[in-house]
Amino acid sequence: MVWIKVDDKVRGNAKLRAIEKSTRGAMLMVWGYCGEQRSNGWVPQWVVDQEFTRAELRQALTVKANGRAPLLHAFGDECDCLDEQTWTEEMAGFRVHDWLQGNPSKAENNVHATSSAAPAAPRSG
Ligand SMILES: [Zn+2]
Repeated sequence: MVWIKVDDKVRGNAKLRAIEKSTRGAMLMVWGYCGEQRSNGWVPQWVVDQEFTRAELRQALTVKANGRAPLLHAFGDECDCLDEQTWTEEMAGFRVHDWLQGNPSKAENNVHATSSAAPAAPRSG
């Protein structure tokens, strides 16, 4: 199981406060998808279609309450958080802003999964 990180300042997050409660719920479902699939913050169109209404998606893509970036990026957006990400036109979909700033990458999660699945070393003595 992969845990996603939501810190104790979430209730004061300006972007989350600036959007409707239903959009916050949709974002939670998208964050869950990213953790479950270890997608490095990428979200396919079908997940967004399943979780957001058109109005909620518009909020997630446009509200920049802290002046930096919205909660979600559409393909073609420019943001520092996208600089090192593989994101092709064929993938399309969306990306969660700053996902890898607070959450481990797929590679990091795979290392943890491998190390926790390894058998314990035999005890001597
Ligand atoms: Zn971003």
